Amino acid sequence: AAKEAGRSQFRFYDPNMQYAARERRRLSKDLLGALDNNELLLHYQPVVDLDTHQVVKAEALIRWKHPEKGFVSPAYFIPFAEDSGMIISIGEWVFRTAADQLAKWHRSGFTQFQVGLNVSPVQFRGEGLNETEWIAYLAQLGLPGSAIVVELTERMLIDASNVTSDKLLAFRDAGIQVALDDFGTGYSSLAYLRKMDIDFLKIDQSFVRNLSTHSEDLVLCEAIVVMAHKLGLKVIAEGVETVEQRDLLAGIGCDYGQGYLFSRPIPADDFTTLLRSGLSACEHTNGK
Ligand code: C2E
Ligand code: MG
Ligand code: MG
Ligand code: MG
Repeated sequence: AAKEAGRSQFRFYDPNMQYAARERRRLSKDLLGALDNNELLLHYQPVVDLDTHQVVKAEALIRWKHPEKGFVSPAYFIPFAEDSGMIISIGEWVFRTAADQLAKWHRSGFTQFQVGLNVSPVQFRGEGLNETEWIAYLAQLGLPGSAIVVELTERMLIDASNVTSDKLLAFRDAGIQVALDDFGTGYSSLAYLRKMDIDFLKIDQSFVRNLSTHSEDLVLCEAIVVMAHKLGLKVIAEGVETVEQRDLLAGIGCDYGQGYLFSRPIPADDFTTLLRSGLSACEHTNGK
């Protein structure tokens, strides 16, 4: 019996799993100090108009530079930050840091430039972000609401409560724009498109990865673009890595592209250089 119990429990002692669990606990503990220790930073990735090839927006992407482990992926640490509630203070920091940076870009003449922020569903709950404070902060910086795009996931719209809708409505009233991120990976997208006031769809990179002339993914991307345009939304394709993908997307009328072809996410100062010198300079270094 003991042997059997031992065998059936074997998977609980999988050293890799145990290591992963310990690692997770440690990292989530370390994350508590990350803000105070200045270990968080934002990188910015350009969003390019596929007609004019101009950089018209950036997406702010958080980076955590752990003192021993180096860069830890947000895909890994954002979930703990959500579980512990730390995402609220991290999200405030992301908003203020990105807004401060955007105000600098506006002051240096890029007055139409927009920054997209990823906002967690946890921030859209009652004890989450204070929409009035966010709007006041933009006003204090002299930024129009329309300079900010909040990127939401379909998951958030699926379990949207009244509080979530109220916060979104206040944002909309202030001119803040809304993008639906990772579009196509959720499941109830179409109903929510009708119900919510959204400005941009971001086609998930999984649809872009294998784009080729006769691919089903091209058919899907085209259908998304046609539907979005009929609903009055603009489309951003994520994960554009090749010239072929860019050209196919431009060919089906996709409005914007974002991906390593144009540039990886980069620090704010490098982004300023990119804005000044234009994309052609960066296409040489990042293009494949
Ligand atoms: P996302 O919002 O969908 O961001 C796009 C992700 O795709 C980013 O990963 C970006 O670096 C990556 N990417 C961009 N171009 C390419 C490409 O051409 N090829 C490939 N393979 N990947 C590309 P990253 O920076 O690791 O962020 C992962 C996710 O973490 C984000 O997905 C977002 O959901 C979340 N995240 C990032 N920053 C924040 C934040 O400030 N707050 C919150 N709540 N979540 C964040
Ligand atoms: Mg995003
Ligand atoms: Mg995405
Ligand atoms: Mg176009």
